[in-house]
Amino acid sequence: MKKIAKQESPEWFEAWKNDFEKENNRKPHYKNEFSTDDEAGRIRRRKLRKALIEEQGNICCYCMCRITENNSHIEHFWPKEEFTDIDLDYENLLASCNGEESLLAEDEHCGHRKNNWWRRDMISPAQGDVEKLFRYLPDGRIRSGKRSSNIAGEMIHHFGLDSYHLVRNRSQAIENSEVFEEETYTKEEIESFIDFYSHKTSDGYIPYCQAIVDCLEDML
Ligand SMILES: [Zn+2]
Repeated sequence: MKKIAKQESPEWFEAWKNDFEKENNRKPHYKNEFSTDDEAGRIRRRKLRKALIEEQGNICCYCMCRITENNSHIEHFWPKEEFTDIDLDYENLLASCNGEESLLAEDEHCGHRKNNWWRRDMISPAQGDVEKLFRYLPDGRIRSGKRSSNIAGEMIHHFGLDSYHLVRNRSQAIENSEVFEEETYTKEEIESFIDFYSHKTSDGYIPYCQAIVDCLEDML
């Protein structure tokens, strides 16, 4: 997972929530006020999703694949069905890919696979140490990080991060990077590659960037 640098909640979103509460004497909820059943809800949903995608540098909050407004959804890290009091807290909102919609349930991944699963000690992509929670291998596989508790393994399973398609996509992304291009690199060259894959380009982050960074770090 790539750490998401959450920004301030968009002004329009906070202002709309405040106005809604004043007018209706209750807090708005995602299920009602962001419903696709009405035009206003659809527009709000689209606007919010756009802000989240931009914030994340156009990659999925969990698997780091490229996402656009047409292949992603608003993800509640703490499930909206269970944590209704924070269902519109900006901190709890992320943008997830839609996974592999036509596949078998066990090969599904990210927001749709995670669904309403949660555990008190799960770690959000917005938390500081998330990049060390997992370790990506050059063949695309994912493992728990060295010092991770068993929550990393649980998250890999419940988010489907070890699904066949993700392993394959990561291994291709690593293969297309500089990781295997030459036999030997200088320390400086490796560090400059790490720097490149750790930062946003004009298109956002490179898909699967953290998997590539892990492999490069192992070369140091
Ligand atoms: Zn994803």
